[in-house]
Amino acid sequence: MTVIAETMLREPPLAAREDYRALERAYGARNYMPFDVVLTRGLGVWVWDVDGRRYLDCLSAYSAVNQGHCHPGILAVLTEQASRLAITSRAFMNDQLPLFYQELCAATRSHKVLPMNSGAEAVESAIKVVRKWGYEMKGVPKDRAEIIVCANNFHGRTLTIVGFSTDPTARDGFGPFTPGFRVVPFGDAAALEAAITRHTVAFLVEPIQGEAGVILPPRGYFKSVREICARHHVILILDEVQTGLGRTGRLLAEEHEGIEADLTLIGKALSGGFYPVSAVLSNDEVLGVLKPGEHGSTFGGNPLACAIARAALKVLLEEGMIENAAAMGARFLDGLRRIDSPAVKEARGRGLMMAVELHPEAGGARRYCEALRRRGVLCKDTHDHTIRISPPLVITRAEVDWALEQFNAALTSPAAA
Ligand SMILES: *Cc1c(COP(=O)(O)O)cnc(C)c1O
Repeated sequence: MTVIAETMLREPPLAAREDYRALERAYGARNYMPFDVVLTRGLGVWVWDVDGRRYLDCLSAYSAVNQGHCHPGILAVLTEQASRLAITSRAFMNDQLPLFYQELCAATRSHKVLPMNSGAEAVESAIKVVRKWGYEMKGVPKDRAEIIVCANNFHGRTLTIVGFSTDPTARDGFGPFTPGFRVVPFGDAAALEAAITRHTVAFLVEPIQGEAGVILPPRGYFKSVREICARHHVILILDEVQTGLGRTGRLLAEEHEGIEADLTLIGKALSGGFYPVSAVLSNDEVLGVLKPGEHGSTFGGNPLACAIARAALKVLLEEGMIENAAAMGARFLDGLRRIDSPAVKEARGRGLMMAVELHPEAGGARRYCEALRRRGVLCKDTHDHTIRISPPLVITRAEVDWALEQFNAALTSPAAA
């Protein structure tokens, strides 16, 4: 505490990138390895660093800022609501939450909503709810509920969630873990069916595995999954925290598959990146098992969060962002597939959720991301050989074409500045 106080006294604020990096390294937990860029401002698809350099943001804070940085419409609602009423707790009602429920249900054809804050909290909440549903509605014996998840899943960072991760980096050293999970391969409907027992209450899955490197399932997989879950009375939970809210060119990625989940989890872009807001979307039956006092969150459903989320949803729907994601995603992916580089193994994606996978011999995705950064494009590597590309949904055709020029140059000669 003493050290922090001294640092704060040492005003005026620092100017150089190196100083920020040194401070972050000195005082912060080292649980991230950020690129060497210190951002200070954003607008739409663009962000600026402390040296005044401009970058095209091709990560969108892991799809939290689908609506573009500092969207003026959301910002206006945020400032107005923040100056009126920020939080009440759920001990009292507020005049934003009911409207948030109504508008979100109308947009997603859901019956009921449970408001939370982070994506991981939405996942945790869903796990609690389907277990309770299993005991009360399916007759699963006490404490025997099982949930099936997929290999290479990413659902967040809480203990229960990392406990059923198959990524050693996320999991190792954090046990013991919550029991009651089984892992099956992603994209294999027969394996799902084989893993179902009398105690299975739910199948939790991402429509497209984002953190795993934008992995799309085989065609027809989700149709089979939907049918299998219905036949075995198993709740289908789609984690759309990353794929949802326009990212794939539809409001929810399930629309591409022609199915409807029983529970849908959304977060990230639900606030346009301004604030942590997540939600469990449900039919009446599943969320209906929760009775007063059995679950909650101090910040969940607060009026500021709800006002921001209402505005974020409104601009997403009314400003053509979802249609733009479909059109610009097709153009971007087509351009990526045309890049002629021995480093590239495959370009894939849906809407503006894309990835370029490199050959293992190409020397790792990080160095290509560094080359892109030098060219004014911010991208993130994942799993050593994959570059994920997910710009805000407001990207224009000219910006896509400019980005493709940078990708072309960086992927064909990464060493050039
Ligand atoms: C980011 C993410 C989460 C976790 O969200 P947080 O807000 O970081 O807790 C859960 N599921 C998926 C698919 C995600 O991409």
